[in-house]
Formats: sequence, C-alpha cells, structure tokens
Amino acid sequence: MLERIDAIHAHEILDSRGNPTVHVSVMLRDGTRGHAAVPSGASTGVHEAVELRDGDKKRYRGLGVRKAIRNVNDIIGPSLRRRDVADQRGIDESMCIIDGTDNKKRLGANAILGVSLAVAHAGARRAKMPLYAYLRETYDIGLSKFKLPTPLLNVFNGGRHADTNLDMQEFIIIPHGFSTFSRKLQAGSEIFHMLGDVLHADGLDTDVGNEGGYAPDVGKTESALEYLVQAVKKAKYKLGKEIGFGIDVAASEFFNTKTGKYELSTDKRNCTAKQMIDLYDSWSKKYPMISIEDGLAEDAWEDWEEMTKRLGKKMLLIGDDLFVTDARRLHRGIDSGVANAILIKPNQIGTLSETMETIGLARENNYKVIISHRSGETTDTSIADIAVAVNAEYIKSGAPSRSERLCKYNRLLEIEEEI
Ligand code: PGA
Ligand code: ZN
Repeated sequence: MLERIDAIHAHEILDSRGNPTVHVSVMLRDGTRGHAAVPSGASTGVHEAVELRDGDKKRYRGLGVRKAIRNVNDIIGPSLRRRDVADQRGIDESMCIIDGTDNKKRLGANAILGVSLAVAHAGARRAKMPLYAYLRETYDIGLSKFKLPTPLLNVFNGGRHADTNLDMQEFIIIPHGFSTFSRKLQAGSEIFHMLGDVLHADGLDTDVGNEGGYAPDVGKTESALEYLVQAVKKAKYKLGKEIGFGIDVAASEFFNTKTGKYELSTDKRNCTAKQMIDLYDSWSKKYPMISIEDGLAEDAWEDWEEMTKRLGKKMLLIGDDLFVTDARRLHRGIDSGVANAILIKPNQIGTLSETMETIGLARENNYKVIISHRSGETTDTSIADIAVAVNAEYIKSGAPSRSERLCKYNRLLEIEEEI
C-alpha cells in the first residue's frame, strides 16, 4: 500500500564523544514517523564518503554539522516529498543523483545516510514490521531463517580511540563457542569484567576508551593479548574452543607513506609489510586468532594480496579502511584475491541501498560480513537490525560497556526473543 512522505526534518545532536552529528525524522502522511542518527569515525579511511562538517572554528571546533542539516531540511526533504516511503532503493538513488558527486561531498554522506535510515525506519513502522524483517523484504534477501551475529567485543582500546601507548586500535574477544547470542554476550561481559580485575591487580589503569574497552599503557603490543588470555582463563572460559581473539590494527594510522614502514612506537620498531605479516603469523600460533582487521595500510593492495595468500586460510582478514563499504573497492579486492571478510559501516558509503549492494557482493563471493558501529556513536540501533536482516556472521559494537555500545547488543537480545 502506497504511503507518501510528508516531511523530513533534521537537527543537530551530539554523539558519544560530544561532537555534533545529524539526527533525522521522516514523517508520513498517516502520521507514522521514523528516526535515525548518524555515527562518526576517528580513524576514518581516506576513501570514505565525505562527512560534511561546517569548519567554523568558532563553533564546536569546526565540527558543527549545520550545513548537512540545511541540506536535509532545504534540499533533500523537499525533493522527497510525496515519494512512496517503501521505495527505499529509488529514494537512495535520487539522493545520490541530487548530490551528483562520487563521494557525496556536496550534500554530505552524514546528511544522506540520516535520511536513508530514517526512511527505512518509517517504512518498517508503516508496514508494522520490525526493521530487520522489513529490510530483508525490501532488499529481496533470499534467506529463510533469521540468524543472530556473533559479537566482536573490543575490550582493549588503543590507537586513536584512547590516550594510551598502544598503536594498534582494538583487541577483541570473540565468544563464538555458544549457540545463542545472549550466552555469547554473557561470556563477553564476564571476561570484560575479569580483564578489569586482572589489569587492576597489575596496577594498570581501568578507565575506558571511546569504544568502552580498557585503555591502559602496556609494555608491548603483545601484552594486550597476554592480558586477554589471563582474563579468559580466570573467567573459566575455554580459550580457542569457546573464545577466540581478534584485532583491529587500523594500520593506516601508523603507516608512514614516505618510508613504507609501519611505525610501531609501542614496540619501538619500524616494520615492513612482510614483518607485519610475520608478526600476525606468529600470534596465530600462540593465540586463538580468529580475525585481523586492517592489518596493512588502506592502499597497500599488493601487500594485502601477499597477506591473504599467507594467512587467509587460517583466519578472517577483514577490510575496513581498505574497502570502506564500497562495492567498487570490494570488486578490486575480489579480483585480486585480497582479504576474505569485509567490515560494513553504512556511513562509509552513505546510503542503506549501497550498503546492501556491497553486502550482497560480499556474500556472492564468500566474504564474511561484519556489521560495525563507529567510534563516535549515538543510541541509534539500526546496525543490529541490518546484521539480522542479512544474517551477518558478526557484529562489532565495542566493549560490553557504555550505553551507546550496549544499545546495539541489547537490541539483539530483544530480537533474539522475537525470532
Ligand atoms: P572508527 O573506528 O569508527 O574510528 O573509524 C572503527 C574501526 O576502525 O573499525
Ligand atoms: Zn577498523
């Protein structure tokens, strides 16, 4: 049944770091409303769609999003008036056409994504369906059962997400050895708290970073993994069988493009790509490594190829800054045998439909799918529903701490009871 969009309104809100971001409401003729808020990264990939910021240094240090808000209220909103809310693909395509650039720099990917997600929420409400079921239908995803993703819990924050000496950004526990999402989350939470006890006993700081994980200074990079081992064992979980590890290296953040070296200041070492691969290989022999994300720099295609040859059979090699949720970059990866998994962040590409297209391409080529939050988050839980809509293998929403992280996991607990 046709239901038309009546009005679209955006306003500025603050994200989990206290920086401005975009909130959008879509109103339908029958009074139904849909809302969405857009997250923001810190270790942003250079190939991501443009997050439009005002640049006015007198306001929020230049981070205001009033331009993006105006683009929704004055340009996108009026142009989508009277459109059928169920035509999600057509609406997303229209916004890309109005923008007219290949990285959404005119309207801003933050403006466009806010509308795209809010339209989906309004459409789902109108159809009286939960968002995950609505998305599965809207995008003709030919899957019968709904499956919940396994959480990747970032319990140790480094890099750009915390004021620590760790260059690598995320140390992750993966409670894969349980049949339900709720049991996985329980294991993750128990290990997270045990990790706090272990760090505290060693005289280390247990304050948390941007994604809710602990963020102490450590002796060397590998110490983070050693602490994870201790926490898992003390919490009485089985290493490997029940709990695996992951890391998000976010290698572009400490890659020196002039020298071609990875500058690991934590370990006082400058590494070649080969040495980085050797390091990961050695960790895979000592620890139950399930995934390594952005293990090499975002444009190091040939080195990625080498890494995939050497490690791709043993673990997930996830492209985040490498692929930026962009089907064009994923195509290149598929053609050259690069990586075997993709991180999906809707705001890297800017519309829900393009996000779904990239997920579809990943699926067709047997790349594992990890739906992800950003380090700057809001209470928007859309990514939980997206993960269930496509039966994503994993979801990454930080540590089991801080509400902007937990609200996604809590939404999955709700869905688990529903399906
Ligand atoms: P970001 O980090 O949101 O700061 O980009 C998350 C990630 O790199 O996965
Ligand atoms: Zn990443």
